[in-house]
Amino acid sequence: MIKERVVSNSETTLNLPVLTREDIEARARSVREKFGLKSIPINPLTIAERVDIAVNNAKFFRESVAGAIARSGNKVVLLVNQSDAPYRKRFTIAHELGHYFLHLHGDGEFIDKEVNLFRQPKGDPNGWTPVQRAEYQANMFAAALLMPEDAVQKAWDETASLERLAREFNVSEQAMGIRLDQMGLLDEEKGREGKVAISFHKSVTAGWA
Ligand SMILES: [Zn+2]
Repeated sequence: MIKERVVSNSETTLNLPVLTREDIEARARSVREKFGLKSIPINPLTIAERVDIAVNNAKFFRESVAGAIARSGNKVVLLVNQSDAPYRKRFTIAHELGHYFLHLHGDGEFIDKEVNLFRQPKGDPNGWTPVQRAEYQANMFAAALLMPEDAVQKAWDETASLERLAREFNVSEQAMGIRLDQMGLLDEEKGREGKVAISFHKSVTAGWA
């Protein structure tokens, strides 16, 4: 069903919804609540199972592909790159679930190369292409799903350790760094860990995973 292409994701983004970060946080929260996911780390596979999405490891011809999701009628297939580390697969699955809940209301597919999946587009959001917007929304959904704001805030108040939070939430330090930054928790007053996270975050041009 999923054919690999270099250029993709165009036809499924024509009806791209306008969503604020708050909208996406709310969608992720309602998905977690609907499926009773209360404890950290959040397992995105549980959600996939509950909505009857088949998740498979795949060997892609292009190693740069991290994951894909395709819908045909009620049948939805999600693929993740078998070579990726577990925490990375988790983010990819959560990202593809973002496409499922936010974008894939009819037949279509998203094929995510790593470069698109794990980086945020630069510049003025008004100038982003529909594909960039869709990818940003899916990344935002993944972050909100795996790193719930209230749980991150609580854990940060307790330890203020980027490394510990990444371990606890089972995400990359990079992803957690961006999340903390996004939540405004990484300021110079937070001490060494915050500073480390900021410089780390800036040095990798905002990759999620
Ligand atoms: Zn995507």
